[in-house]
Amino acid sequence: MDIQESAACLLLRSPHLSVSHILHLLDISDSEFRKFLTSNAQIANLVDKRRTGELKPYISQPKECKVCAEWFMPYASARHCSDECLKTSLIQET
Ligand SMILES: [Zn+2]
Repeated sequence: MDIQESAACLLLRSPHLSVSHILHLLDISDSEFRKFLTSNAQIANLVDKRRTGELKPYISQPKECKVCAEWFMPYASARHCSDECLKTSLIQET
């Protein structure tokens, strides 16, 4: 996957951006984007989800770190506030 393709993948996950806006941002032409659609299942899937309205914005909610009990805004499914705490939790589990 080239850089434009993976960037398109990332941006397509955001329901706030329209496809045409994304193409403009990444300087991708319609024909290039159609190529991505046929060659990249991930992109095709995201475009499908956009059409059916399944794409939901990821809502980040503060979580309490399992190690230091500090509140933080998790990225994706992170359960720890920092790499240090993640390492600590892995040590504690073993
Ligand atoms: Zn922590």
